[in-house]
Amino acid sequence: MYGSIELGGTKIRCAILDEIGNIVKEIRVETKDPEENMKDVVDFLKKNPVESIGIGAFGPIDVDKESKTYGFVLETPKKLWRNFDLLGSIKKELDLPMGFTTDVGASGIGEYRYGAAKDKRSSLYLTIGTGVGGSYIQDGTLLQGFSHPEMGHIEITREEGDEVESFCDFHDSCFEGLCAGPALELRTGQRGENLDKDDPAFDILAKYIAKGLMTYTMILRPHIIIIGGGVANKEGMIEKIRREFAKLDNHYINIPNPDQYIVFPELGNEAGLIGGYVLAKDALKDE
Ligand code: ZN
Repeated sequence: MYGSIELGGTKIRCAILDEIGNIVKEIRVETKDPEENMKDVVDFLKKNPVESIGIGAFGPIDVDKESKTYGFVLETPKKLWRNFDLLGSIKKELDLPMGFTTDVGASGIGEYRYGAAKDKRSSLYLTIGTGVGGSYIQDGTLLQGFSHPEMGHIEITREEGDEVESFCDFHDSCFEGLCAGPALELRTGQRGENLDKDDPAFDILAKYIAKGLMTYTMILRPHIIIIGGGVANKEGMIEKIRREFAKLDNHYINIPNPDQYIVFPELGNEAGLIGGYVLAKDALKDE
């Protein structure tokens, strides 16, 4: 059995998966106090022994194995979690091989191995919901330099006259600041799910999202782009994004057919847990 932990901004899921990746048992707790949350997780894993554990956590986190603070949550707006030794807090209770990456890294791995990118050599996974985050996998390996990518904070050129406030505290015109769910709410005064699918706000967002996807494409040329999250899932949105994406290239490069290139995840809400299972298996192999 393998343990998989998906640590999200609002909830934490911890599951036990069998040899072939079926979820056998799962608990969900609300993300609150880190010590308390980790106690719940550790207790669950002690009652349900596993061989190794994979963790995907909200960031920013330290994923550099050479770093003194490897496994820590870094400068997050969630004050209680800031500088919390996430990996260490589990390790001191359960001395097992562990894999550790971002939430989007784990979901990206899940989709790469078992989902929409299972027959591709490279894939880019992006979630556009409460925030925007992404991961890129090349030949089975997650891309990271001295730290994990922050794909939600690339600069997006605004449409002329668009002066809506950015939702990001750090950047006036970044992907997350303009396209995340709360950004849509700043723009329209309403939550995305309450807006009509033909609301013009979605047309602007589709343009911005397409610009972001084009930037990733120019730099990485992934075999496939997988987009999930509340904003991407709005009825008609992916079609709009594909249309805008096709317009942007202006025939410079031979881009794949957007219908097959920009797709939804296949594992739905389980991508992160399944990614954690893959990380756990890999961690055991690497021991
Ligand atoms: Zn930003």
